[in-house]
Amino acid sequence: AKGLILLCRPGFEPECSAEADVLAKRAGISGKPRTETNSGCVHYVFDEIFDWKLAQDATPFHALVFARQRSVWVERLSDLPTEDRATPLIEAIEALGVQIGRIEAETADTNEAKTLGGFLKRFIPHIERALSARRILRNKADLPTLHLYFKDSSQIDLGLSDPGNASPWPMGIARLRMPRNAPSRSTLKLAEAFDALMTEDERVQSLRAGLYAVDLGAAPGGWSFQFAERGLHVFAVDNGPLADALIQTGMVEHVKADGFNWRAPRKQVEWLVCDMVEQPGRIAQLVADWVATGRCKRAIFNLKLPMKKRFDELKRCRQLIDSRFKVHGDSYVLRIRQLYHDREEVTAYLAKIHPHTLPSDKQSGR
Ligand code: SAM
Repeated sequence: AKGLILLCRPGFEPECSAEADVLAKRAGISGKPRTETNSGCVHYVFDEIFDWKLAQDATPFHALVFARQRSVWVERLSDLPTEDRATPLIEAIEALGVQIGRIEAETADTNEAKTLGGFLKRFIPHIERALSARRILRNKADLPTLHLYFKDSSQIDLGLSDPGNASPWPMGIARLRMPRNAPSRSTLKLAEAFDALMTEDERVQSLRAGLYAVDLGAAPGGWSFQFAERGLHVFAVDNGPLADALIQTGMVEHVKADGFNWRAPRKQVEWLVCDMVEQPGRIAQLVADWVATGRCKRAIFNLKLPMKKRFDELKRCRQLIDSRFKVHGDSYVLRIRQLYHDREEVTAYLAKIHPHTLPSDKQSGR
């Protein structure tokens, strides 16, 4: 492998570069990030070449916050001839000696790169047919994904990732449909967070009708809507007004109060979500308190990052949460990602991990 191909929100290249560097160095890999301002893409270039699986395992996708997608960079083709771009590409793929389960054609999320869309629609099926005929592309779920990152139509980077160790969405972009009657577009942020930050098991357990959710900074109600739709009861805390459509569901109680001081009037609360625009450190502290003390089982929250020192600010929030849980020696799971629907912010999932209690037949000590 030559390095990593990382796609990010344009403007967040410094953060994406910094975290790739931290992760690689921690794994004992030396290299350097290369990127351009607002390009939406970072190449992390290794100082020496080594096995792509090792590179992948050293930089697990879930550990990255600012990369929407990451693959292990194995080859570059540049100056492809306009009259036949396919032949050199197919030869290069064949030379990798790897069978693949699917191809993802990727570009940066910039207006310039988006103009490649039409070309890719025609080009990629052609490549897929050729690779299937050569038995390189097989219809098997567990085979690696081949990422073809197009800088433009004459330069392609080849990347690999194992399924489950990359974003399941092309270019890491969650294409979600805006639900009818939703009070605000930010409803998509929470919908994406459920998909991007939780396991299927966790979703099944926690998004059940009859459970209770608390939504701090709820107005106009896009996040509350996600719960109400699934039949959860919501305490929507905000001094601002909620959308009528949300009240109509009958699942939401509007509480006009300050989200920093309000306490739920019941013991069993499954969810705390928080989208208040406030200093990230204050939010991290507040949410960690709720989860650590068991006032809710799990939380999803936004950290609005300031223009400068975003990376350091996020590190500080992680430390705040860690210290809060250390008070009682509790374990927790914290997953953070800049979602596609996030702007100058990141979204986090936090839950306490309960030590496994042994099944009763094994606890008896006989
Ligand atoms: N998640 C909402 C949705 O999907 O419609 C949008 C929330 S909006 C970005 C932030 C909200 O936080 C505002 O309505 C604001 O009134 C509220 N807010 C800010 N500080 C607050 C506080 N201390 N207590 C309660 N609400 C607060």
